[in-house]
Amino acid sequence: MDNVFVGSTLSAMSTGLGALLVLFLQGSLTHKWKDMLLAFTAGIMMAAAMLSLIPEAISTGGLIPVAVGLLIGVLVLTTMEKAIPHMDLHHNSKLEIDPKAMLVVAAITLHNIPEGLSVGVSYALDQNTDTGNLIAFAIGLQNAPEGFLVALFLMNQKMNKFKAFIIATATGAIEIVSGLLGYYLTSYVEFLVPYGLAFAAGAMLFIIYKELIPESHGDGYERPSTYSFIIGILFMIALIEII
Ligand SMILES: [Zn+2]
Repeated sequence: MDNVFVGSTLSAMSTGLGALLVLFLQGSLTHKWKDMLLAFTAGIMMAAAMLSLIPEAISTGGLIPVAVGLLIGVLVLTTMEKAIPHMDLHHNSKLEIDPKAMLVVAAITLHNIPEGLSVGVSYALDQNTDTGNLIAFAIGLQNAPEGFLVALFLMNQKMNKFKAFIIATATGAIEIVSGLLGYYLTSYVEFLVPYGLAFAAGAMLFIIYKELIPESHGDGYERPSTYSFIIGILFMIALIEII
C-alpha cells in the first residue's frame, strides 16, 4: 500500500512540477516562445504516446485493445470538443475561457484517469514493485509537460499564474485517486489496463494534432516550432533511454 501511494503521488505531482515552470515565466511570453513551447510539449507528448504508452499497451494486451482504446480516446475527445463550445461559462464565472483551452484542460484531466489506473494496477500485480515504479515513472515523465501545457493554456486566458498552477496541479492529482482505485480493484480492472493506456495515448495524439500543432502555426513561427517539436521528441527519447 505504501509503495503504490508514494508512487502514484510522485507520478501525479510531476504534473505540478511541470506547471510550476509557469510561475517563473516573466511577464507574458512572446508569441514566438509560446508557439515553440507548445510545439516542444507536442513533441514530448508524441514520443511518450508512441514510445511509452502504446508499446506498454501492446505488451499487456496486444493489438486489438490498443486499436479499441485508441479509437475510444479519439471518439471521446471528438464528443467533448463538440460539447464544449456550447457550455456557457459566462454566467457563473468572471473568467472567460475559450473552448480550445477548455478542451485541452478537460482532455488532459480525463486521460489522467486511465494513466493513474495503470500505475495502481502495475503496483498490485508485481509484489516487488519494480513494474509499479517503472510505470509510475514513465507516466510521471509525460505528466510534467502536460501540467506545463495546461498552466500555459490557462495563463493565456488571462488567469493569474498562481491560479493556473493550482488548477494544472489538480488535473494531475486525480491520478492519485485512480491509482489507488486501480490498486484495490486490480482483479476487476486489470483487463482494462491496455485499453486505458491506449485511450490515454489516443487522447494525447488527438490534442497534439488537433490543437497543439495548429496553435503553434499560422503566426510566422512555423519553422522554429517545427525544430522545437523535433527537439521535444528527441528530449523524450533521451529521457526514456537514459532512465
Ligand atoms: Zn498523459
